[in-house]
Amino acid sequence: FAVFGAPIFNERKDWKGTVLVFHDITEIKRLEEIRKDFVANVSHELKTPITSIKGFSETLLEGAKDDPELLDEFLTIIYKESRRMQLLIKDLLELSKLEREDVELHIETVSLKEMVSDVLTLVDYHAADKNITITSDIYEDIRFECDASRIKQVLLNLVTNAISYTPGGGKVIIGTKDEIDEFTLIIKDTGIGIPEEDLPRIFERFYRVDKARSRNSGGTGLGLAIVKHIVEAHHGKIDVRSEINKGTTFYITLKKKFTKY
Ligand code: ADP
Repeated sequence: FAVFGAPIFNERKDWKGTVLVFHDITEIKRLEEIRKDFVANVSHELKTPITSIKGFSETLLEGAKDDPELLDEFLTIIYKESRRMQLLIKDLLELSKLEREDVELHIETVSLKEMVSDVLTLVDYHAADKNITITSDIYEDIRFECDASRIKQVLLNLVTNAISYTPGGGKVIIGTKDEIDEFTLIIKDTGIGIPEEDLPRIFERFYRVDKARSRNSGGTGLGLAIVKHIVEAHHGKIDVRSEINKGTTFYITLKKKFTKY
């Protein structure tokens, strides 16, 4: 508790008493801790690629550049690490925009079928590379109002994760449950699953079940935090069920008509 006090006087300046304000600062302290953790995490996430970029460019400058094979190998690493930094910064900026209450959404009517097909084109290479089959079980199209590029981002993040956390030869299935005013988008994989104790935390910024695996798959650790913010900005719901070594299913429920409130 933080306590603030102020004396009270009457018109003749006699002391009449003191007002004490007890302020519960548990929440303020908690938010302060979250902010500090966040800064520490961002610094750490940026330090890893920058150390590697610096190290490999120094080695090149010290002479490794004269060996064409090393030149190629090291430049590829430098390129990948700078790309990772670029993605991280892009995600950080998007997240900080979404965390503002007044985030601006560009609402338009879209076709779910078209959106899913656009996303599948984007992940096609990644899926084929891992021999993962993606099927879309959307037969009847659903038209709904949303910020198209942001909802597409939600779908892209969830499908990319489904591919990344599913071993080669596995399956990713996209389906829907259509209702009158709303619908649920279902993204199911046959992957590694998420331990029950981690499930409530996966939407936190930088929370990863397996850090090494996530980094190797190119993840920034911000994907699901962004997904949750976008869904909430649309007044939608997100849910997840998972079973270890069986797979994970994400459910996104959105209203067909967007209402600002
Ligand atoms: P990342 O960039 O690490 O993938 P996300 O925020 O997208 O970050 O996801 C957070 C963590 O949740 C991941 O590191 C992973 O441990 C877990 N996760 C997300 N999606 C899946 C999935 N489909 N199957 C298994 N684990 C998943």
